[in-house]
Amino acid sequence: MKKKDKVQVAIAGLLDMFRSGEIPEKIAIATNPHFNVPSSNWSLNNRLIQLFHGTFDSRGIKQWRIIGRKVKKGSKALYILAPRQFEIYQCKCGLTLFNKDVSKEKCKGCSSLIDKSEIQKAVTFNGVPVFRAEDTEGKELPYENILVPKHSFMNVASAWDIEVKSSGFIGNAYLKWKFVLLIVYLLI
Ligand SMILES: [Zn+2]
Repeated sequence: MKKKDKVQVAIAGLLDMFRSGEIPEKIAIATNPHFNVPSSNWSLNNRLIQLFHGTFDSRGIKQWRIIGRKVKKGSKALYILAPRQFEIYQCKCGLTLFNKDVSKEKCKGCSSLIDKSEIQKAVTFNGVPVFRAEDTEGKELPYENILVPKHSFMNVASAWDIEVKSSGFIGNAYLKWKFVLLIVYLLI
């Protein structure tokens, strides 16, 4: 079969899988067994961020060090978002007060009393650098070297010259992730 035909067959197969709803099941098979990694507990947004970077497992430098791995030279961090809550108060003098200044009795600008009922909570996000498991080396990870099961999903990948590798799966929520997972599988 020519490469072009292979691709067409692969796409047709892929569409069939979508139609039949088989894909989540395929992915579940491909990603068994399940492993718990730190990112299993991340917010949906953060898990999406790492999925779009093509990984199921990313951690901070220290976290990697603790389990006996180090980040390979030249690897770039990806940034997840850590929410930080803070208090904000808009004084009638026009000054916006934050955190410590809000908890005081009087506005630091005009010395008027701070109306506690007008204090609002807000959230800011700090970027936290993490590195993909793929960009680390050292002690073997529990989910490495799992054999990828053979099934039709793999034909699609090989027709596209895409390497499919096995990976521990984050949590048990694969149904929610079916489309994202598919994209990730096509990217890696
Ligand atoms: Zn004021």
